[in-house]
Amino acid sequence: MKFIFSTNFFMGLIYLLSGIICVLIFYIWRLYQQIFFLNQTTKYLQKDLKELDHQAKLIIKNDMELKLYQDAVNDKLKKLSFLKNFVNLSLNILDRDNLLQQIDKRTNQSLGFEKSCFILLPSMEVKVNLNFSEHELEALKDFIKNNQILLKALPLISSNLEAAKELKESLSSETFLLGPIITGANVQIVLCVCDCIMEEGITNAEKEVFSIICMYLGQCLDNIISFEALYHIREELQDKVKEKTFELTKTLEEKEKISKAKSNFISSVSHELRTPLTSIKGFSSLLVAEKFGRLPPQARERLKKIDDNVNKLVAMVNTLLDISRIESRKIEVNIATYDLNKLIYDTTDFLMPQIQEKDIVLTVDISPSFYVYMDKNLIERVLINLINNAIKFTPQKGKIAVKCMRGDSKAIVSVKDTGYGIPKDDLERIFEEFYRVNQPMHREVKGTGLGLSLVKRIIDIHKERIWGESELYKGTTFYFSLKVAKDV
Ligand code: ADP
Repeated sequence: MKFIFSTNFFMGLIYLLSGIICVLIFYIWRLYQQIFFLNQTTKYLQKDLKELDHQAKLIIKNDMELKLYQDAVNDKLKKLSFLKNFVNLSLNILDRDNLLQQIDKRTNQSLGFEKSCFILLPSMEVKVNLNFSEHELEALKDFIKNNQILLKALPLISSNLEAAKELKESLSSETFLLGPIITGANVQIVLCVCDCIMEEGITNAEKEVFSIICMYLGQCLDNIISFEALYHIREELQDKVKEKTFELTKTLEEKEKISKAKSNFISSVSHELRTPLTSIKGFSSLLVAEKFGRLPPQARERLKKIDDNVNKLVAMVNTLLDISRIESRKIEVNIATYDLNKLIYDTTDFLMPQIQEKDIVLTVDISPSFYVYMDKNLIERVLINLINNAIKFTPQKGKIAVKCMRGDSKAIVSVKDTGYGIPKDDLERIFEEFYRVNQPMHREVKGTGLGLSLVKRIIDIHKERIWGESELYKGTTFYFSLKVAKDV
C-alpha cells in the first residue's frame, strides 16, 4: 500500500512536473517569440530613427541653404534697387559734372566702399573725391597713366590683379576696384573705389554692380556728348536763322523803301501829268467837237486819234494814281457786308454790250444770295477788270463763265474764258505793273498792263488771295477769294 501510494504519488508528481515543464516550455517559447518580435520591431524602429535623423539633418541643411539663398536674393534685390535708383537719378542729367556728382557718399556706401573718386582722362583731373588722400590720388593717377591699355581691355581692375600689386601697397588696401568709363572707343573717366566695408570683402556681385555702373555712366556720357553736339548745332542754327532774318529784314526794308520811292515817283509823275493832260484833253475834245470852227477832214481824223490817245493816257494816269494810292494806303477803304451775287449780276449786266458785241456766250453761275466782307466799289473794279480782260482776250463767239462758290468761311469767285490763254512763265508775272504777255495775239489787243496790278492790290487790301490758271490757246481762269459774312 505504501508502495502503491508512493508509486502513484511519484507518478502524479512526474505528470505534474512534466505538465508544469510543458507549460513553462510553452510560456518560454511564447516569450522567446515575443522577444524575437520585439527585437525585430526595435530593429525596424532603429532603422526608421536613423532615416528620420538623416531626414532631419537634410531638412536642417536645406533650411540653411535656403537662408543663404534668401540672403543672396535679398542682397541681389538690394543691388537691383540701388541700380534702379541710380539709373532713375542719372536718367535726365545732361551735364557731365552733375552726372559724376551722382556718386555721392550714399551711393558710395550702397556700392560698399569707404572711398571713391573719378579721374578724368587725359587731363588726370580728379572729380568728386570722397575720402582719398592726396598721396593715394597720386598713386591712382600714376597707375592709370601707366595702364591705359589694361583699362581699355578689362571691364574692371581689382586688387587681386597682379598688375595692381604696387597700387595695393600705395593704397594700403586689399580691396579696391578701378572701372573704365568708355565713350566711343576711348576711356574718358576712371571710377576708383577703395576699402570695402563688407566683411566678406569684394564679392562677384559687387564687381558685377560696379562694372554695370561704369558701363551705364559711359552710356550717359555718350548721351551727354550727343546732346551737347545737338545743342551746339541748335545754337549755330539759331545764330544762322537770326543772321538770315536780319539780312531778310534788311532786304525787305530796302525793298519797301524802293517800293515806296517807286510809288512816290509814280504818284508825283501821275499828278504832274494829270494837270497838263486834263488841259490837253479839254482842248482835244473841243477841237474834235469843232467848237473852234470846222476842220479839214484830215486834221479832224488826226485830232480824233490824238483825242483817243489822250483818253488812254488819262485812264492810264488814273490807274497809276489808284495803284499808288492803294500802295501808300491813301485810299479810303470801306469794307462792309454786301451781297456778292448781286454785285456779280450788276457787273455782268453792265458789261453786256461788249459781250454781245463779240458774240460771246456768257454764263453766270451764282448760288442763292449771301453776304461777304468787301469794299463794294473796289471789288466791282476787280470784277470789271477780270471780265473785261476775258472779253478782250477771247475771240468772237467764245465763252465766258462767271461762277461764285460759297465755302464755310470763304467765297471763291472765278472768271473763266475760252480765250488765247497765258504761257506758264508769264502767269507768274502777270500781276506786275506794265507786264503784258509777249504773244502775237496778245499784242493785237490794246492795253496798259496795269489792270491786273490794280486788281492784285485791291485783293491784297482785303487780305485775300487771287490766282490764275491757264492753258495756251484753250483759255484762262482767274480766281479770287472773299470772307463770308456769317450772320447777315
Ligand atoms: P491789260 O489788259 O491792260 O494789258 P492787265 O494787267 O489787265 O493789262 O493784263 C496784263 C496782261 O495779262 C495782258 O496784257 C494779257 O497779256 C494778260 N491777260 C490778262 N487777262 C487775260 C485773259 N483773260 N486771257 C489771256 N491773257 C490775259
